[in-house]
Amino acid sequence: MDHEVVIVGAGLAGLACARTLHASGIDAVVVEASDGVGGRVRTDIVDGFRLDRGFQILLTAYPELSRWFDLNALDMKLFAPGAKVRLNGKFRTVGDPLRRPADLAATITAPIGSVADKLRLLKLIASVRRGQAKNLLRRPDMSTLQRLHKAGFSDRFIERFMEPLFAGIQLDPFLEVSSRRFEMILRMLAKGDSGVPAHGMGALSEMLAAPLPHSSVRLNSNVTALANNRIDLRDGCSIQARHVVVATDGPNAARLLDRVPDPGSRSASAVWFAMDEPATGGKAILLDGERSGPARNVAILSNVAATYAPEGRSLLVAAVPGPDALGANLETAVRSQMSRWFGSVVDTWQTLRVDVIRHGQPLQTPPLNPKQSVRVDDGLWVCGDHRDTASIQGALFSGRRTAECILAELRPNSQP
Ligand SMILES: Cc1cc2nc3c(=O)[nH]c(=O)nc-3n(C[C@H](O)[C@H](O)[C@H](O)COP(=O)(O)OP(=O)(O)OC[C@H]3O[C@@H](n4cnc5c(N)ncnc54)[C@H](O)[C@@H]3O)c2cc1C
Repeated sequence: MDHEVVIVGAGLAGLACARTLHASGIDAVVVEASDGVGGRVRTDIVDGFRLDRGFQILLTAYPELSRWFDLNALDMKLFAPGAKVRLNGKFRTVGDPLRRPADLAATITAPIGSVADKLRLLKLIASVRRGQAKNLLRRPDMSTLQRLHKAGFSDRFIERFMEPLFAGIQLDPFLEVSSRRFEMILRMLAKGDSGVPAHGMGALSEMLAAPLPHSSVRLNSNVTALANNRIDLRDGCSIQARHVVVATDGPNAARLLDRVPDPGSRSASAVWFAMDEPATGGKAILLDGERSGPARNVAILSNVAATYAPEGRSLLVAAVPGPDALGANLETAVRSQMSRWFGSVVDTWQTLRVDVIRHGQPLQTPPLNPKQSVRVDDGLWVCGDHRDTASIQGALFSGRRTAECILAELRPNSQP
């Protein structure tokens, strides 16, 4: 055997798996098809701006974060609690009065729904905050939309606030995703902050990979086929190992492993604009509450993290979730929406990049069974966000728990 374990894919799941194994002295190597670590969580420097691959945010309440990262070293830059919702040609503040009492009046009067809707939201938040997180994943499952109706929210509140907010987070404009996952995200939003690391979301992946021995991560190594104890690479080489872990995204795992079904794909696009002056002030996320689209979430990222733009410039990202993300003429459609929001100044904006991501997240419609089996066969394993929840938290957890299962076989006596 060349190694004890070979891991296919250097996304967060593959890296967390490798880190866990290395910490127990296991010889594990990661092979990655692309030219860098991080998978869907990477940041590129373009004309001095930091562009993540698609618009992503980090929820600081994810339990895996404190296990893997020094939050001080990540230097989190935080969004303002709440959001600004675009309605009838104006931005209306919907704050989080529990954290920023100054937003109370604006929040109560914002025309996104009745006072009863806003009280229902407080009640739902209180219910998802209570008890242990894992209990949320055992509640009866339904779509997010059904869950919101069950909680009594009006259509107006759903359309104007919940839909654009969760369209962005779940890449889910029709609120089809499992209510188990929705409630988990709501809990994370309520319990912590939302932000980005000062050096971009890719800093997460770089920090996770940093302690691994340099020779244990092989980039530009596309795996074309595998068996229980062997992987074949596109360049004709093979690697033998006692255990093989497929830590790719779900669709690629299904291509490599007959017994793993394709989890389906939620798509997302992001159009990144550079400008001299920020389009608007403040650190709140901007939501499209009037279904004007195609962008449902917009952020002036340089207002949140000045490190995302060169001195004296600003960076705006407009995020398009769901089927619209794959539409033709996306940049033109987003520019025209931004012109309706911000006026003719948009003509001076420079488009830095358009990201079109066909597989942003697995579908995760109900029934969602989080913590799906990671064992495929003797010596053959699968991990990634499609085995747990479709998130940074889910990917990190999945990689760690797969490594712990392998450790139980390789070092049965050293288990706690
Ligand atoms: C636009 C967008 C927005 C998101 N927003 C958020 C958010 O705000 N918050 C949040 O928590 N999550 C968000 N997510 C989800 C989160 O990024 C993912 O759930 C998580 O990064 C998945 O990690 P993973 O390791 O499971 O898979 P991946 O990151 O997909 O890693 C898999 C790796 O396997 C490699 N690979 C694939 N096939 C092969 C092969 N044949 N050979 C070798 N290597 C291969 C790939 O190149 C990749 O590096 C978002 C995702 C996207 C795309």
